Amino acid sequence: MTTSQKCDNPSCPQAAADSPISSNNLRLCSRCRATRYCSQECQRACWPSHKRRCRRQNYIIKFQLCPEDIADPPVERTLSCPADAPFYLLHLALQTAFGWATTHSFDFAVRDPDYRPPTDIADFLRNRLVYRDGGADRPREYLLRVVDPVPRSPFSGIDRMHEGSRQHPGTVEKKSNEWCLWQLLDDRQYQGKQLLYTYDFGDNWEHVSTVEGRAEATDHFVCLSGTGHPVAEDAGGVAGWNDLKAAYRTERPTAEQRERRAWFETRASNADPAGLAGDRVHAWDKAQVNRNLENLLERFEQIAEQAASQKAMFEQIIGRS
Ligand SMILES: [Zn+2]
Ligand SMILES: [Zn+2]
Repeated sequence: MTTSQKCDNPSCPQAAADSPISSNNLRLCSRCRATRYCSQECQRACWPSHKRRCRRQNYIIKFQLCPEDIADPPVERTLSCPADAPFYLLHLALQTAFGWATTHSFDFAVRDPDYRPPTDIADFLRNRLVYRDGGADRPREYLLRVVDPVPRSPFSGIDRMHEGSRQHPGTVEKKSNEWCLWQLLDDRQYQGKQLLYTYDFGDNWEHVSTVEGRAEATDHFVCLSGTGHPVAEDAGGVAGWNDLKAAYRTERPTAEQRERRAWFETRASNADPAGLAGDRVHAWDKAQVNRNLENLLERFEQIAEQAASQKAMFEQIIGRS
């Protein structure tokens, strides 16, 4: 970012005077927030040459996985995210950073600040009775949802059926492969409201996001920091994850706890043969995450190809082809 106190228009009439202008009087290009002009005229004069290198700054976004229920350690990742990336790429970047296996559907959702979740079971049942037709008048939980563009992803056999009550006639829906980060994050009507990334509508892994700042534009996502071992896919939500961690903390595991460990080390979709004993619960590899983020699309193309060949193999086995 420039620290120049001069107008960035090379043919600025003020430049001839060679006197620095107070930075208060310079306006920032609203897109890249890096180039400054003394006037709208200078900005307009420069735009044809500036637009080629004018890039929206990245967003630095912290994602916390179920922060109210997951602790010791919390599972968090902070990413620098290209502003013009579609949300579908952010989904793939988060799958990579959190170590998920991409076998379920997802959405990004802006919570309606007026929504009050049912406080107890009576409240819940009353809501079910009042709004049993799933009518348009039931309380709306989300202002906007950015959704999986396809009913089934090439990686997963899990479809979007389980979205259920997340859909609402009053909720705006955008396709995640067509809607870019800046279109939501720069829109004033959504600023300051809670943006959630929910993965797997069964286990309901909610990643709470906070925009922490802006950074230099990059071509790919960059993982800046984080804590916590990736959570086991299909663990059974936060309760299942906490049970799995407990199965590793105990000196004398029950048969059920031994079975839980064996499942995580060999059969989970994001299995870790090294398990979670001792310090392993903190283990995650930032350098590897960043290598994978650099080759994000290539990596998922490979996964999709493998999934397709596995599907063909499976269909052969069961005699469909
Ligand atoms: Zn100027
Ligand atoms: Zn610019």
